Amino acid sequence: SPVASLGIHESVDDVFPPGELATYLADLPIEIEVVSDDEIASCDAVVTLEYRDAFLELDWIHSIQAGVDRFPFDELEANEVILTNSTGIHDRTVGETVAGYLLMFARRLHDHVANQQERRWERPEWDEAFTLPGTTACVVGTGTLGRGVAETLGALGVRVTGVRRSGDPVPGFDEIYANDRLFEAIEAAEFVIVTVPLTDETHHLFDAEAFDAMRDDAYFVNVARGPVVDEPALIDALEASSLAGAALDVFEEEPLPEDSPLWELDEVIVSPHCAAYTRDYFRDVGDIVRENVDRLETGEEFHNRVV
Ligand code: NAD
Repeated sequence: SPVASLGIHESVDDVFPPGELATYLADLPIEIEVVSDDEIASCDAVVTLEYRDAFLELDWIHSIQAGVDRFPFDELEANEVILTNSTGIHDRTVGETVAGYLLMFARRLHDHVANQQERRWERPEWDEAFTLPGTTACVVGTGTLGRGVAETLGALGVRVTGVRRSGDPVPGFDEIYANDRLFEAIEAAEFVIVTVPLTDETHHLFDAEAFDAMRDDAYFVNVARGPVVDEPALIDALEASSLAGAALDVFEEEPLPEDSPLWELDEVIVSPHCAAYTRDYFRDVGDIVRENVDRLETGEEFHNRVV
């Protein structure tokens, strides 16, 4: 195999201790070591969260995220660097996080937590709380995240619709709309959940016009990438009460700046880009890396290859 040594870049430490993954992969027939920026040149390949220009000298980069919008595809291709990603592992984690957001809004759990901070015994208004069965969630993007969200919400009795390019049916979705019917799909839903990758096509897909198309009593959920949403337009819609609220895991700027109005808006739940966190993350990523090291031995095409 041309890959004799695989580095685990220290940037993965944002998501799990790099040593855990090194130990998990220790039985592979190649050298595995945790590397800092200064040590990248000693590797043939790297498993990483962040991008570094020094990676252009390597044969293969594996991203521990599904989203690879931070990588320069053209430069990688010009330098014949292979890029693989970690799509396929975030269905249940993100699905449960999204179910949690919906339950918080429906059952008013976020209000209880906020009230508890102030030692305040205050019940919801009689008409605030509701239950999920009978509501519709529209999931925009029907890949791994979208399917995981559909399965988890479906089990809670939510009717789940999906938006995808082709409009063909997808298991777990009650109804599918093609992209050109996006507004029709979102105007019929109490919850709109974004699960598409960030690309030129999806940049600011959710803008003032899209928020206008949504119901006034609808909640917006973004677990995809910040720039899929025109954030000032979302803030305007929330401030004008033309949306009921939002749960946001990703933002145009991360960390979310301290002066962002999103921190303080009623009916907004902010989480720090961790919808897919699980203590099993290093194992889930490790299994993809292991599969690809095996494929290197047999000369098979890489699993989850992007570039
Ligand atoms: P995936 O590749 O399995 O699914 C993406 C889906 O989006 C595919 O079905 C694709 O066809 C579809 N798609 C792409 N462009 C589209 C468009 N213009 N219109 C409609 N559909 C389109 O990827 P995934 O694992 O589901 O992850 C999706 C994205 O979610 C990632 O790219 C990443 O940005 C984000 N993500 C966020 C977190 C988090 O922690 N919040 C975790 C994992 C993934």
